[in-house]
Amino acid sequence: MISVSQARIQILDSLSLLPIETIKLENSRNRVLAEPIIADQDSPSFDNSSMDGIALVAADIASAHPDHPVQLELIGSIPAGLVAGEKISKGKAIQIMTGAPIPDGADTVVQVEHTDLDFSKPVNQDTVLVRLSSQKGTNIRRQGEFYKKGDALLSPGHKMRAQDTAVVAMTGKPTVKVRSQPKVGLLTTGDELVPPGKELLPGKIRDTNSYMLASLLEDSGADVIRTGIIPDTEEAVLGALQFLVQSGVHLILTSGGVSMGAYDIVRRVLEAKGTLKLWRVNMRPGKPLAFGEFQNVPFIGLPGNPVSAFVGFNIFVRPALMKMSGEDFITYPLQKAKLKHSVESDGRESYIPANLSQEDDEWVVEPAVNQSSGNLFALIPGNSLIIVPNSVKFLSKGELVSVLKLDPA
Ligand code: AMP
Ligand code: MG
Repeated sequence: MISVSQARIQILDSLSLLPIETIKLENSRNRVLAEPIIADQDSPSFDNSSMDGIALVAADIASAHPDHPVQLELIGSIPAGLVAGEKISKGKAIQIMTGAPIPDGADTVVQVEHTDLDFSKPVNQDTVLVRLSSQKGTNIRRQGEFYKKGDALLSPGHKMRAQDTAVVAMTGKPTVKVRSQPKVGLLTTGDELVPPGKELLPGKIRDTNSYMLASLLEDSGADVIRTGIIPDTEEAVLGALQFLVQSGVHLILTSGGVSMGAYDIVRRVLEAKGTLKLWRVNMRPGKPLAFGEFQNVPFIGLPGNPVSAFVGFNIFVRPALMKMSGEDFITYPLQKAKLKHSVESDGRESYIPANLSQEDDEWVVEPAVNQSSGNLFALIPGNSLIIVPNSVKFLSKGELVSVLKLDPA
């Protein structure tokens, strides 16, 4: 049986990149860039004022003090968005608003608070008193001090956040090249499954994985096509797989039917009608994991136990979607934390639902009480998975362990 990291490498290596498309900047949030974003000009693009105040020559106010203000001639006003016609020379000052270009000749801006002006009313005076001296350059944002024309601002592989859309807007581009949104087909199997809203007859259980996996896929930026619950027959599974291929999905994700049971049809259909490249990984939970291809579409089959499906999604499917989208970061940040309770394993690499927190400046992690792979509720208090390495069977309370954070926030 292969290890988790071997399985992940095999899956990631066999996936190809999604096509590139050009979309409107306003639709680019959470999409992965497929082009570099290059500065079209310096930022700031011109010297401008960082304050509402007056622009002047610093040397003129070297002696200014609240007790001996310096008087200057006030020659006008510059709002943001306009370039002053006037030039500043010795003895002169001009009103200037935040963001407005610094007029020729001025080398300093003095905040309105240090003058006798009141910007809340139209200024109706032709002199101004300055009560504070200032160093040359004060309150001026210099052209190019943030970045220079031609600088690379964002790289391909970067996932667009709010601030990234703003940086692209800075460069004047109304559209951006990104990887296509992954379209994922979700197929849930099991004769025992009943959706919420339908009567639960004896022996039946609720379908929980459809909801959990669809949400996880959407969180990862995918567009999800759901087949609904598919019965455990070859024709039904084959029909659902064909429907997904015809719908143009980039990846097929299934839940259930890939282990050793008599009704584990998904794996058999894949073996007979597609390609099964790997099956079974040395991990807990989630040993039955199928990876292969159906009619040239990559396929990942997760086990039906809800905790196994959740772990398998996080360990294999999310990185797979990142790889297909060309995202540059495809592993999770690990946090070392102190165990609040001992944990046991059977020697397979184990992923234990847990809650990671900080206590007195120290990272601590609390494993779920009941770690059965069928116990969906173990995932509710948690935000992370404790990783118990391969061939370790016991970790005592207080030991430092690696914890995989599921929610970056
Ligand atoms: P399987 O992988 O199909 O052998 O299923 C393993 C266990 O997970 C069985 O107890 C199933 O009843 C349960 N199971 C399978 N699919 C789901 C699902 N969609 N929602 C909740 N439990 C499931
Ligand atoms: Mg089943």
